[in-house]
Amino acid sequence: MLALDVQHVRMDQHAVDKAQALECLVNILVEDKLVTPEYLEGLKAREQQSATYLGQGIAIPHGTPQSRQYILETGVRLAHFPQGVVWDGENKIYLAVVIAAKSDEHLQVLQILTRALIDDVSDRVKNATSAEQIIELLHAQPPSLALHENLIATQVPANDTDDLLWQATQLLKQQKLVEPGFICALDPKQMIHLGEGTWSITASEHVLSPAVSIIKPEHPIEHQGESISTLLCIASNDQLDMPQFNRLMDILFDPSQLEKLTQENDSHQIAQIIGAEIIPDWPSRSVTLANAHGLHARPATQLVNISKTFKGDIQVSADDGQLVSAKSLTKLLSLGCKRGQVLTFIAEPNTDAVAGLDDIIAAVKNGLGEEVEPIDEQELANNNTDKVEVLTFEEEESNSGIPASSGLAFGPAHVIKPREFKYERNSKNVKAETAKLEQAIAQVKENIRQFIAESKVEAIKQIFTAHLEMLDDPDLIQGVHKGLKQNLSAPAAWHEHIEAAAKAQEQLKDHLLAERAADLRDIGERVLAVLCGVPDVVEPQEPYILIMHDVGPSDVARLDKDRVAGILTAVGGASAHSAIVARALGIPAVVGAGSSVLKIESNTTVLINGDNGDFVIDPAQSLIEHAVAERERQRQIRIEAEKHCLEPAITLDKHQVEIAANIGKVNAAGKAVKDGAEAIGLLRTELVFMAHNSAPDEKTQEADYRVVLDDLAGRPLVVRTLDVGGDKPLPYLPIAEEENPFLGIRGIRLTLRKPELLRQQLVALLKASDNRPLRIMFPMIGRVEEWRAAKAILDEVRQDYPCENLEVGIMIEVPAAALLSPILAQEVDFFSIGTNDLTQYTMAIDRGHPLLSAEADGLHPSVLLLIDQTVRAAHQYGKWVGICGELAADPKAVPVLMGLGVDELSMSSTSIPLVKAQIRTLNFAECQNIAQKALQCDSATAVRQLGE
Ligand code: PEP
Ligand code: MG
Repeated sequence: MLALDVQHVRMDQHAVDKAQALECLVNILVEDKLVTPEYLEGLKAREQQSATYLGQGIAIPHGTPQSRQYILETGVRLAHFPQGVVWDGENKIYLAVVIAAKSDEHLQVLQILTRALIDDVSDRVKNATSAEQIIELLHAQPPSLALHENLIATQVPANDTDDLLWQATQLLKQQKLVEPGFICALDPKQMIHLGEGTWSITASEHVLSPAVSIIKPEHPIEHQGESISTLLCIASNDQLDMPQFNRLMDILFDPSQLEKLTQENDSHQIAQIIGAEIIPDWPSRSVTLANAHGLHARPATQLVNISKTFKGDIQVSADDGQLVSAKSLTKLLSLGCKRGQVLTFIAEPNTDAVAGLDDIIAAVKNGLGEEVEPIDEQELANNNTDKVEVLTFEEEESNSGIPASSGLAFGPAHVIKPREFKYERNSKNVKAETAKLEQAIAQVKENIRQFIAESKVEAIKQIFTAHLEMLDDPDLIQGVHKGLKQNLSAPAAWHEHIEAAAKAQEQLKDHLLAERAADLRDIGERVLAVLCGVPDVVEPQEPYILIMHDVGPSDVARLDKDRVAGILTAVGGASAHSAIVARALGIPAVVGAGSSVLKIESNTTVLINGDNGDFVIDPAQSLIEHAVAERERQRQIRIEAEKHCLEPAITLDKHQVEIAANIGKVNAAGKAVKDGAEAIGLLRTELVFMAHNSAPDEKTQEADYRVVLDDLAGRPLVVRTLDVGGDKPLPYLPIAEEENPFLGIRGIRLTLRKPELLRQQLVALLKASDNRPLRIMFPMIGRVEEWRAAKAILDEVRQDYPCENLEVGIMIEVPAAALLSPILAQEVDFFSIGTNDLTQYTMAIDRGHPLLSAEADGLHPSVLLLIDQTVRAAHQYGKWVGICGELAADPKAVPVLMGLGVDELSMSSTSIPLVKAQIRTLNFAECQNIAQKALQCDSATAVRQLGE
């Protein structure tokens, strides 16, 4: 990071001309060990290309890219020449900011300088007498408040204040006015009602530059018994231009203006009402900047020179931010535009500038005097970070993947993969393209309506009804029309707008909103297919094998079980949440089978084995017959197991283990009991929370927990307090973006930072219990302090809400907790081992990693050693231990876990009858023997082979 610092300023320098000044500057850099003397040639060469005069008596000399080899360390130095030096024939400089930058860090310096130079500081530069004065004037930021039309969105789909805040933040974020974390600083409780349904909310953390975004929802939103029809989201910091802000407030405190604001839905008109900068409705063209080092001084000078050849006004914005004149070097540099950012130029109508847009776009595309490498989609997706070589690892081709959901399935392949659409990007006939688009949308809407009418599944009807609404969204349509007016063809305008909207949604890493992005792409592809005449992928009539790159939990949840016989994916892991959902639905699944599965021809018969991960493409008839027979055998075993599912799980030598169910929905407890659950061993309360659009209050939670306890009719309920974070975000509990969410603020680490949330959940649980057997456990405990802090909160709550039948425990998911179990066991009532996370953290393999997750096997001896230590520690102090990770239902793991002495196995309720049946065939003494051998094994594979 380059910074302008007092100690880097040299006052009182003298040079008779530019050549001498450059020598003086290089000497300073050499003295400070930033460059070798040869750098001087680089400075001279750069000045020959074009002078580095910036304006207002300042120059920014720097070397050519070729001279970077002489840079020892990146740095910047400032030299003040009180008598001035003629720099480019007509302009004299008094201050030289000499830069030695190994890459494009100097853009930051330029941005600082050019922001300061928006005001006229030439006299202060010339007459400065101290280093402090210089740094102060360069750092002086002009007061600012971004308030322009691009920060206003109307008819925004929003169901609640969270949606509104998200949308308002998105507008600010897109224009780099706030950074990740800003949304967390917005507290809905602090919203102020200005009147007439207009509200404001302010935050000052994570603000890059003061700004106001304005959101108007499609329908007024309920908030604290009032309604919100307009929300002003104010990002404020100490650079906030108070006079401008007060002018805005004066408007908002005027009832007549406020009324106009409430009634108006056109962002252009709204901008006028509140005195925001209006984006002129001028012809525009956009282009992605491909210059490796961004829009630095040299290409920017070229751009200024080209723009100045036109009489008409030309303005430009980067990534839809504030518009600046394309004829001002300072203003262009203040954009700080980097490679990959989109420059949008607008030209004054009825002037030569309109035709000039073509020349400007061509010049930017050609690199503005620099050689440029074309920019590809992948690079853009990488968010314009520095160019790095990305190592990719291909999966090995084989006909097996990771067994993710038990069972054999076969049927025609239904391969869902990205389809190719070919179309011309531009068209001159706006009218014809508009008509084409309207026709395509109408056709897709008709198809969807038909689909809704035919579908018997309510959830599917709801999804497609939402798709219909999306296709009617005026904002979406308006955005596409904007593209059409810019002479894009119908498919280009449609695809580009949908993709941009979907990307914007995705960026939040919020699973609900990410799902909306998937929905957007879904309708996007349907319309695009019609526009390009690409036939729809027809779903086979008979139950099929769904083949996809990956399936998200929401994809699986949408599946019609009667139509999808099995799932085969290119990536994914057995303990990823999609696999957990597939198991819960009882659909056989093989995941992480490699990208070659996407090459399987649609309708080819595919056979998958969800028990060992094998799959066969176009199997011989004999194999299918064998599979049918095997499936029938398995069906009979299941029928038999189901007959006895309500009986206990007791081994041949009379050792009993409790069998419980893992659930994530409150109404799943009833089915779990019918499947033979003797308890709920894990209620994933974050999933219960996710079923609500906003944070459930204490009453709502109490009602939810009561449903589970009622259905359990006296059986114990093990509830895990909120485990948000990692791959389970909650839209209304935003967590600032983290580099490693699985190693970040997750589970107890989050709730201890929000003790009110934890307290509220505990109160709801204790109130719901009515002295029925309740076991509360805390997730992700890694340190004894966390356990004690959480327990102290619970003890406090217990004083007000006594509960007799309560046990308190922790999940063992972090190796640190397993290793500390001899200490923890003295304080807790029980342990429940979450083998999904325990394996992930022991093996240091992301549980959902597309390529590695198969290697994260919970039967790895290292994980078993941790389980063994935990069980022994617990039993020494008379405490019980359960397993609630996916390992608990793995037929190979059951004897090992029993042999290690666990007291409870908790699993997806569909697995219960089979696991109980298996236990009844086992001998506990034999299990103990196997377990001891397993602890001596050197690999998970060796453990899996033990029983064979
Ligand atoms: C586990 O980690 O094993 C567990 C049961 O918790 P979750 O899968 O919800 O993270
Ligand atoms: Mg876990």
